[in-house]
Amino acid sequence: MKLKVVVAGAGFGGLELSSILSEQLGNDLDLTLIDKSDSFYFGFSKFEVMFGHRTTEEVLVPYEAINKPGVKFIQENITAIDPVERRITTDGGTYQADILVLALGADYDIAGTPGLKESGNEFYSLPGAETLRTILPAFSKGRIVVGVCSTPFKCPPAPSEAALLMHDYLTRRNIRQHCSITLVMPFGLPVPPSPETSKALLKAFEERNIEYIPKQIVREIDPLQKAAVLDDGRVLPFDLFLGIPKHRVPAVVEKSGMTVNGWIPVDPQNLKTNYAGVYAIGDVTSVGTPKAGVFAEGAGRVAAESIIAWWHNKQGPLAYSGEGTCYVEFGGGRVGKVNVNFFSGPKPTGAYTEPSETLLEEKKIFGSSRIQRWFGR
Ligand SMILES: Cc1cc2nc3c(=O)[nH]c(=O)nc-3n(C[C@H](O)[C@H](O)[C@H](O)COP(=O)(O)OP(=O)(O)OC[C@H]3O[C@@H](n4cnc5c(N)ncnc54)[C@H](O)[C@@H]3O)c2cc1C
Repeated sequence: MKLKVVVAGAGFGGLELSSILSEQLGNDLDLTLIDKSDSFYFGFSKFEVMFGHRTTEEVLVPYEAINKPGVKFIQENITAIDPVERRITTDGGTYQADILVLALGADYDIAGTPGLKESGNEFYSLPGAETLRTILPAFSKGRIVVGVCSTPFKCPPAPSEAALLMHDYLTRRNIRQHCSITLVMPFGLPVPPSPETSKALLKAFEERNIEYIPKQIVREIDPLQKAAVLDDGRVLPFDLFLGIPKHRVPAVVEKSGMTVNGWIPVDPQNLKTNYAGVYAIGDVTSVGTPKAGVFAEGAGRVAAESIIAWWHNKQGPLAYSGEGTCYVEFGGGRVGKVNVNFFSGPKPTGAYTEPSETLLEEKKIFGSSRIQRWFGR
């Protein structure tokens, strides 16, 4: 008898979990990996697309390359989730599982911030980054505001990276002196678990004349004044607004009735949901780590080990530590690093490594090693 697993979502979490189950269970596994897209891409690729360093085609990794024992990829749109029956319905069929894993990530609620769609831009989706790629070359002077519209949001360092990379972009085009950059962040520090990383980022903002507004979110965009309205009522006029949109679970997850306060609750030890045989990993959960690929991957690893232990009737793995390494773009071809750990101690910790060109190479290897591991290329 084979273990029948259905994995909904082939992002960081779904790909890592499927790879481990395939490696360890091989032909005892009958795993169906479902995603509505035909390709994977890294979150950080959106910067490369937005600033014109790589084309969309260059950052996409087609799922058809997946060739792992016991794993079948299916490109279909998931339309219903039944966690009690462990059943997934798609536009192409119905899939019944012994173990169901939900790894559907976070969606964006652009309409949730009034005026954002009409008068702003976002770089959190690939289409949003593609639009900016066409807008930016025509921008030659004015006020740029990068603003977070709600919490939680993916990759907490990303708005800071966007401001720093924007500085580089404008400098390269020799128009930086005609532009201002303002960053609106909901936290006091740019990367709260790591005061050292935050200090380095704040110093980098100061050196580059980037205004940092802490502890605020952009509550709406006023299309008439072309201004971002902050939580405290402050109004920031702009010529270009780059928003980090509100995040939410995909509609199909909400419809399943599995969410509490907007996200799927899980046991942080093993990523089990409240439903027998159903796991949830990554951005779709409220596990307590930031919404980032490295954490989705770590959660996928622990969930996979827990599933394997159950299948072999052995003791479960060590508890999920909520650990991950985030690379932070500082611009100028240099990347910093923060090793964060959320669950091992009484409070989250973050060890910082200064930006360098060596870490830029390390970040590239981080990406290529995942492509090698998940897609075999
Ligand atoms: C600008 C930016 C920069 C980032 N930089 C980093 C970084 O440097 N490091 C890092 O670790 N993280 C980074 N991230 C965050 C990272 O991309 C996400 O946190 C990560 O992808 C989450 O993994 P996941 O597996 O939970 O979900 P995802 O990777 O989002 O995967 C979910 C999958 O589910 C599929 N799906 C959704 N709904 C359906 C449906 N109804 N039917 C079928 N399929 C569906 C989607 O197509 C998707 O492939 C960044 C994000 C952004 C926006």
